[in-house]
Amino acid sequence: DTFVDFKNVFLAYGDSGDFAVEDITLSTRQGEFIAIVGPSGCGKSTFMKLATGLKAPTRGSVSIDGAPVTGPLKIVGMAFQAPTLLPWRTTLDNVLLPLEIVEPHRSRFRSHRAEYEAQALKLLKAVGLDGYAHQFPWQLSGGMQQRASICRALIHEPKMLLLDEPFGALDAFTREELWCILRDLQAAQRFNVILVTHDLREAAFLADTIYVMSRRPGRIVACKTNPLPGPRE
Ligand code: ADP
Ligand code: ADP
Repeated sequence: DTFVDFKNVFLAYGDSGDFAVEDITLSTRQGEFIAIVGPSGCGKSTFMKLATGLKAPTRGSVSIDGAPVTGPLKIVGMAFQAPTLLPWRTTLDNVLLPLEIVEPHRSRFRSHRAEYEAQALKLLKAVGLDGYAHQFPWQLSGGMQQRASICRALIHEPKMLLLDEPFGALDAFTREELWCILRDLQAAQRFNVILVTHDLREAAFLADTIYVMSRRPGRIVACKTNPLPGPRE
């Protein structure tokens, strides 16, 4: 029951011949939460691009959920350091966006809208944003926008959630609150998570397994199973 499976993966951008990541071998179990930590420029985003099929390895192989990755995956939700909400849409309409994109027929999206909205409101409630569904991003604080971004990443029930420093720009209090929310959501729904972060404490709080990447060329130089008993056991 392997989910992410990297076998001896190398990636060079262009034909520079310099590898951005080098000889990455790593596999995760279904429902595992992993963190990749390492200095800036070490290859963490490159790892993400390989895991979602946005980049093909120069050498080696990447499989997700038992199948070789041959192009961009649809089973993914993503959240980044900046919240990236669309300013002309309400919080609710921002959260619904992935369903609108995934749903090929607009008429079908419209006919399921009530059901989708109920799902979105449930998620917004889980992250403490009930009451803000009809506000616009500029009416929310940075932390609230980030909560909404996480809802948007989860609305289509992705098998894999990719988080690229999503808590980096938040104050310590909001950050730790969001850690708890994320941990609870993941414990309940068991989606797979890859979190990229500089923050070792964050990795230790959230992840089942922590991988440490070295400065360029990015290699996995350490792997640590989290000894802390989390709520997911
Ligand atoms: P590709 O290399 O497959 O075209 P991208 O679309 O990510 O991949 O990048 C397009 C081009 O932009 C790259 O080939 C590279 O020349 C340049 N580029 C983008 N990001 C960087 C970076 N961080 N460092 C150096 N060059 C970059
Ligand atoms: P991180 O996410 O850990 O900061 P990246 O994966 O973005 O690291 O980058 C790893 C290395 O690959 C860096 O040396 C970076 O400059 C280089 N790189 C990233 N994207 C490109 C690109 N599109 N073209 C060329 N080089 C790139």
